[in-house]
Amino acid sequence: MKKLWNTICEHIVAPTQLSREQLFGLLTPFGRSVHMRRHAASVIIARVQLISALFAVLVPLWAVVDLLVFEGYTAFWLVLLRLGAAGVFAALAWPREVSASRPYAQAMLMLLIMLLVPPMFYLASLQIIDQALLSDGQRLVAQLYTFMPTIVLGGLAIFPLTALEILLFSVPVIGVAMVGMVSGGADLALDQHGAALWFMLMMMGVSMFSGMSQSHYMESLVYRAMTDPLTGAYTRRSGTEALELMYRLSSMSGKPLAVAFFDLDNFKSINDRHGHDAGDQALCTLVERLRQTLRRGDVLVRWGGEEFLAILPEMPAEQMPTFLGRLRRAGFGDRPDGRPLTASIGVAESLADGALDWQTLVELADQRMYQAKRGGRDRAVLPGAVEVPLAQPA
Ligand code: GH3
Ligand code: MG
Ligand code: MG
Repeated sequence: MKKLWNTICEHIVAPTQLSREQLFGLLTPFGRSVHMRRHAASVIIARVQLISALFAVLVPLWAVVDLLVFEGYTAFWLVLLRLGAAGVFAALAWPREVSASRPYAQAMLMLLIMLLVPPMFYLASLQIIDQALLSDGQRLVAQLYTFMPTIVLGGLAIFPLTALEILLFSVPVIGVAMVGMVSGGADLALDQHGAALWFMLMMMGVSMFSGMSQSHYMESLVYRAMTDPLTGAYTRRSGTEALELMYRLSSMSGKPLAVAFFDLDNFKSINDRHGHDAGDQALCTLVERLRQTLRRGDVLVRWGGEEFLAILPEMPAEQMPTFLGRLRRAGFGDRPDGRPLTASIGVAESLADGALDWQTLVELADQRMYQAKRGGRDRAVLPGAVEVPLAQPA
């Protein structure tokens, strides 16, 4: 299995310049970062709303065809069914805010409801239309309804979904189609239904491919827009957005949110003595080291030139000495002359500092960073003005 995976990565994935992690992120939603999921959620919700708005108008319009083709009783129920479906589409299209705490769950639920409407419509139409007594025109319209599950599978292609998600969304749709095939006591016969099933699987495959390429395209655009090209840390703009959101989530849950403000010590002298490129290299090494120290849900922002902000969700003030210990062990890299690069750090935490908004939190961390500079650099200042030296013991 491992060998097969390596072969796939070497021959199929490597030429597309996808890393294993990126491939994992396209196959399943679990590899996606919180921000990517949030972004994907807003794209999915926007598209569900757009398509639902379109169908809320088109679905009742088709009632004219039902009224012309079918006789009174059947036409009445089909029109009623259409109005019901249009109602669900209108509810989905209704303007709404993207949930702050669970945007992805909201997107998946809205998409699932939208996808299930046409197959359910098809199932209900089977109950209404008496298949045995159809004229040619009626048979044509009834056959169009049988395509609904297949159209839905093809429609999945316009969403930036991962392969696993497309598979999971396809299962109920294909299931409904199969229930339709065996309705009225008919057997599932390969010669009769095989082609339709095969076509549905093909549609699912096409949607998987399209969904994955859309996800990849979206992720690379979002990544490029959100990160600083030199270090790969979040830009100040995207970092501010992340901070706003994370602050909102932490105050909703009552959990602490900490921020650590880093300013490198005597950084200008690296540029002055060794050139700008050496300074750039030092910044890249610093970010690499910080990444090793930070946890998966933490966010690193390049706040200014050589100033960085780490956003640390669910880190209470009591855990900060452990965090600083990890920072000290990883270090910040070396200066071009071989001496260790050092930083002055100011830390603030929402609960311990009683900060009522994220701006106050950042301001406090900034003030403490300056306090660390004044105290002699290479140190951190924690809530309660606790000063912690960071120098490696000689
Ligand atoms: P202090 O210990 O007081 O912080 O001293 P410092 O020399 O680090 O002073 P300051 O923070 O004011 O200096 C920031 C320097 O960072 C100035 C600027 O030349 C440099 N810098 C900012 N952005 C970049 C960058 O992208 N690349 C390089 N090479 N240098 C940068
Ligand atoms: Mg500075
Ligand atoms: Mg500095």
